[in-house]
Amino acid sequence: MPPDVLSEDFSFGKTLKARSLVLHRTSPEILQLNVGKLCNLTCSHCHVNAGPGRREIITGKTVDRILEWFESTDIPVLDLTGGSPEMVPDFRRLVKTVRQFDSPRRVIDRLNATIIEEPGYGWVPEFLADNKVEIIASMPCYQPDNVEAQRGEGVFDASIRAFQKLNALGYGRNPHLKLHFVYNPNGAFLPPAQDRLEEDYRDAMQEHFKIIFNSLYCITNMPIARFASYLKRENRLADYMVLLRNAFNPATIDSLMCRDTINVSWQGEVFDCDFNQMLELPTLKDGQHLKAWEIDPNTFRELPIQTGTHCFGCTAGAGSSCGGTLA
Ligand code: SF4
Ligand code: SF4
Repeated sequence: MPPDVLSEDFSFGKTLKARSLVLHRTSPEILQLNVGKLCNLTCSHCHVNAGPGRREIITGKTVDRILEWFESTDIPVLDLTGGSPEMVPDFRRLVKTVRQFDSPRRVIDRLNATIIEEPGYGWVPEFLADNKVEIIASMPCYQPDNVEAQRGEGVFDASIRAFQKLNALGYGRNPHLKLHFVYNPNGAFLPPAQDRLEEDYRDAMQEHFKIIFNSLYCITNMPIARFASYLKRENRLADYMVLLRNAFNPATIDSLMCRDTINVSWQGEVFDCDFNQMLELPTLKDGQHLKAWEIDPNTFRELPIQTGTHCFGCTAGAGSSCGGTLA
């Protein structure tokens, strides 16, 4: 009989309470904007269910409203995610405007490197370098088979060529041009130790492809969206949930990304993280779903964080966030 993942045993809130742990916000440090679900790939682990057929992308009007509000805050970082953010028509305007604010913000692009080889996207490397955009790129392995099993045929070689192009522009070498890689497991298991894997990546990428990068971030696969569908098809969802729950690490709580990140959808709606966004678990104020331009950064930290069973994905083992492990 498989465990009932909807039972009290799998309540994230009860797990925190039993250990007298409290999850609350600090000052917002990152505005993470998910500009839409359009992507040229359909990776098996994708928590966004992104793909070439998706039409949900941010409009120019929503970009305007977010930019106006964002400039009035002192949130230091804009983290752009998707989909493939560069496929959104307003991407360049958005990045340039934020970099040209009177107090310019750090901009991160969560890059799917293969986009660089798609027709019409040859501008991406130079544009990112010219605007000193920090790149966080998915690279689930330094061996082609593992990458292509997860992300599709031809993705490994296209990514390698893209990273070589970015290196040639100074990425990984110039302190203003940071290039980080993201590893996530190719199945229902936890990532290995991030620092050791980073060394393996560094050696392999340098030896075989002459590629250099700054850091490797290990991210746990979240049991939602496309990865949850895969687990269900394989009849392994309950086992994966048991794995995550049994690996609960209280030391991760103080570093969870929902504490200092404001996550915003392509429609301008606010969530506690990109996973909650995909699960349609909204950030509420007075019972209403908050919009980005309605946020008062001074009082935002009083709003409760919405949690659920999927949160065990962030607290398992060394923990997981958009910036890698936590503890
Ligand atoms: S994981 Fe990234 S690159 Fe892959 S389909 Fe999702 S958004 Fe696209
Ligand atoms: S899933 Fe989101 S809300 Fe839950 S712990 Fe992770 S970052 Fe926080």
